[in-house]
Amino acid sequence: MKKTTKVAALMLAVAMMLTACGGNADQAADAADTGIASPEASTPDEAPADTETPASDEEASTDAETTAAVTKTEGVITFGTNAEFPPFEFVASSGVIDQYDGIDMAIAKQIAEENGMTAAVENMEFDSLLVALQNGQIDAAIAGMTVTEERKEAVDFSTPYYTATQVMIVKEDSDIASAADMADKKICVVQGYTGEVCVQDMGYPYEAFKKGTEAVMELVNGKCDVVVIDSATAQKYVGDNEGLKIVEDSEAFESEEYAIAVQKGNTALLDMINTAIEAKLADGTISELGVQYTEAE
Ligand code: GLN
Repeated sequence: MKKTTKVAALMLAVAMMLTACGGNADQAADAADTGIASPEASTPDEAPADTETPASDEEASTDAETTAAVTKTEGVITFGTNAEFPPFEFVASSGVIDQYDGIDMAIAKQIAEENGMTAAVENMEFDSLLVALQNGQIDAAIAGMTVTEERKEAVDFSTPYYTATQVMIVKEDSDIASAADMADKKICVVQGYTGEVCVQDMGYPYEAFKKGTEAVMELVNGKCDVVVIDSATAQKYVGDNEGLKIVEDSEAFESEEYAIAVQKGNTALLDMINTAIEAKLADGTISELGVQYTEAE
């Protein structure tokens, strides 16, 4: 009897893990390739973004009026980010927007400029982005942010532009070969990232750090055994630090989609962003940025 309960509990735990650690099994294969979302894989929501009233569509396409109405400062889109997430956003000696560089920063700048606006960046902790959006401190959050059901309750998401997955970074000689092998290991994550949610849902103890670099240093210094973090960022850290490797487990970690978040109900800005993202997916711009920023350095 006990055994049955245990099995049931385990099955429930696995089901929860699958829900929390990604959403879209169908797109897991895409994630393995380039990560760039396909243009057809558009809306993250069941409700398509283009069901707005004609009035709001008109507003969105009239540049002069739109700029005043959709952002906190006329003619400027203030993007919130957490510039600790290479290759999507990081601080450089000279970036595409001030000192901020990366795939997301290039996308943000293009979205603004194509709409006759300029892009400004407010760099903050990842954890603060949704609140900053809700209280109007920023107009949009672009931060390699995964669309999750929980976040969708707080903000609206654009068409996804990148497909990723969580992976494990370990020392080259580690015996960790799957997520289940983390059971008796010291696990490091970054606070507020989907990686933390995944590990939490698996029921393993872990230590959370403010920055990916801090978690990776902990691993390099032998103070933890594994870092769970997004795939492209993991590649970057493994490239930058000797003696590390990536372990994937596509059954434990499903695919995730990155999208830009706006304040709930800001359909004019969302429409502007979606039009730009969809065009950039279709013409290969986002894919090129992916190559450019992963090959850099
Ligand atoms: N994709 C992860 C998340 O949304 C990490 C994002 C980030 O650190 N910028 O939680």
